[in-house]
Amino acid sequence: MSCIEHKTTPSAPGAEVSRDHNPFDEMEPRMPLKTPVDRKNGKHVKANDIPPQGVYLPNNNILAPHMKSPEYVQLSTAAAITLGIMGGRMYGCECTRCLNLLLTYPEGCRANCAYCGLARHREADRDYADRNFIRVDWPAVPMADIIDIVAGDPANSPFHRMCISMITHPRSEQDTFTVLEQWTDRIDPDAIPVSILSNPTTMTREDVQRTRDLGADIFTIALDAATPELFDRTRGKGVQSPHKWSKYWEIMLEARDIFGPQKFGAHIIVGMGETEYEVLNLVQELVDLGGHSHMFCFFPEQGSLMDHLPATPRDQWRRVQLARYLIDYRDVRIDQMRFDQQGRIVDYGVADAELADVIDDGIAFRTSGCPGKFQDDISACDRPYGDSPPSDIASYPFPPKKKDIKRIRRQLDIPVTLK
Ligand code: SF4
Repeated sequence: MSCIEHKTTPSAPGAEVSRDHNPFDEMEPRMPLKTPVDRKNGKHVKANDIPPQGVYLPNNNILAPHMKSPEYVQLSTAAAITLGIMGGRMYGCECTRCLNLLLTYPEGCRANCAYCGLARHREADRDYADRNFIRVDWPAVPMADIIDIVAGDPANSPFHRMCISMITHPRSEQDTFTVLEQWTDRIDPDAIPVSILSNPTTMTREDVQRTRDLGADIFTIALDAATPELFDRTRGKGVQSPHKWSKYWEIMLEARDIFGPQKFGAHIIVGMGETEYEVLNLVQELVDLGGHSHMFCFFPEQGSLMDHLPATPRDQWRRVQLARYLIDYRDVRIDQMRFDQQGRIVDYGVADAELADVIDDGIAFRTSGCPGKFQDDISACDRPYGDSPPSDIASYPFPPKKKDIKRIRRQLDIPVTLK
């Protein structure tokens, strides 16, 4: 399969052309429907006894109940293409620099986050191994096969980083430790460092410490929602999901303590109903704690509880991307910036010439995440087209070209070079 899709960014039915941000009142998730008893908790898959065989490509629907971590993991389409496990091409990139792995179980993630393709409510109509997540398929592959390929020549691997994404499942911690240990037993973590994308709901301080002891380099928390209200609405009580803002912050502070400065951070999705001021306030808080923010542009994932809602308008997204970069990497503080009454940025708090340099440099508009081997502000985790179609790129998985910068400037309404 190919990663190239020719879709445009969806708008809400009846959305006004002049819309320039996603307001809280309009970003209400729909409620999950009742799951039929015979499909609850992966029952329908577990009723079979078909052994897994090699690589499992989503949509095969072979109902392999034994395909689970730590023996099996799922990996992003981009990682599978880079590893040579799948054929395909990615628009504008030869490969991805991050080997994103996802723990997998027949009963899947037990949480119900409204924006997520892996959420529990989907068991009503789609088996876990066949669900789309951040817009792409995730084939399931034996972990030993992945390690065999990468361990052949880690120093010259296209991957600059490996990341284990935990999900909400009773086996998640133990299997994360096992996958991490299997990796570091064969692959020097200095050659390819490892990040953990954690699931704080079921974690303790000891669990965080164990990931560090087993060789993890960076620990991140998928906070995703920028405010406690949004968190509760999209990941907590609002959608019958178990997560709590306070628990996520508890684990964030443990990670800060154990991993230290620049070695922890949080994922944030922009455009789920927060204001620009609110999300940048969170970015500043993370920087003040010594961490980083890794941002995603909200995209209505097909099959999720927010698939009827509009993607983040590009002007809102670009303003936040630019301001976040200034706070994270240029020592600009949120109190130097100015916002309008709706919390939108109207002044970035830097001289026009510096702003022009940052825009033209383009790094601010690339995918953000844990660093690779190029430089600190260039993410290994480039997630090609995880938050937009290639026809309307939100996070650039490659250095934006001149024509891209022109487009970005139009989206920012800063069309003329200021220098
Ligand atoms: S915990 Fe993670 S994987 Fe599970 S539904 Fe929420 S966002 Fe998706």
